[in-house]
Amino acid sequence: MTAKDIVYVNGSFVPRAEARVSVEDRGFVFGDGVYEVIRAINGRLFASKFHNDRLRRSLDGIRITLSGGDTPERFADIGRQLLKENDLVNGEATVYMQVTRGATTRVHNFPPSQIQPTVYISVARFTPYADLARTGATAISHPDLRWGRCDLKTLNLLPNVLASQAAKERHAFEAMLIRDGIVTEGAKTNFFGVVNGSLRTHPCDTHILPGITRSVLRDLASDAGIAVDETPIKEEEIPRLSELFLTGTTTDVMPVVKLDDRPVGDGKPGELTRRLQRVLAESLASGD
Ligand code: PLP
Repeated sequence: MTAKDIVYVNGSFVPRAEARVSVEDRGFVFGDGVYEVIRAINGRLFASKFHNDRLRRSLDGIRITLSGGDTPERFADIGRQLLKENDLVNGEATVYMQVTRGATTRVHNFPPSQIQPTVYISVARFTPYADLARTGATAISHPDLRWGRCDLKTLNLLPNVLASQAAKERHAFEAMLIRDGIVTEGAKTNFFGVVNGSLRTHPCDTHILPGITRSVLRDLASDAGIAVDETPIKEEEIPRLSELFLTGTTTDVMPVVKLDDRPVGDGKPGELTRRLQRVLAESLASGD
């Protein structure tokens, strides 16, 4: 929430308290929609092109067609406008954008073509996890109960919500999701791990979200001469991890120093993790 707290809903900039969507909205009834979260630093949206492309891909993936000349690029401009309206052009903030299949009488199949998508965009002040990034965070492992299209950023986050709550109840920062003996990703993050000196992460397939931070970091690692091996990490390899870290728009590079109450490596953020933390911080400070 910001002092002015203006949000955007279906073509209008309104105070959050006055913003309205129908109880028949398919986002509310079915979770039938997609979303994005973009990092804003001093009013500049980080990696906005990648977020726009992913939003387009998510919309196409669930067959929502934007109306009235709307595009992800237009939503990003609205996000920039909201940062101004809410006095968030200095410092750290996030832009949230959500598109649902619109409001209509409840039927499972798609509504008639004249029903327009519901668009909601808001901004919020954001404080990076600076202390945790220094000390390292803890994580638990948790079954990955999600569907077969985790590569689409949909509103259907129930398995992620339940896994996050399980982590919270064990005072952990993140739940590492395990499907068929493979660590896929976190409930709200991707991850990289070092096994036998090699930096590995899950490949981009339908079992993970193609994280923007994951992709930016992989490119930065490559520029720094650090190879990334996209061979999934098996659950049985967890005891051999010498380093583990999470990546995400609001998580940056977050060292994990304990997994299921056992130390990762020597129980401190690893050297490679520290290096990649610095590399990403530089990119956030200068990039777009
Ligand atoms: N994986 C999941 C399941 C997520 O929900 C997120 C972010 O919300 C990520 C990974 C990280 O993606 P990004 O770096 O684009 O924020």
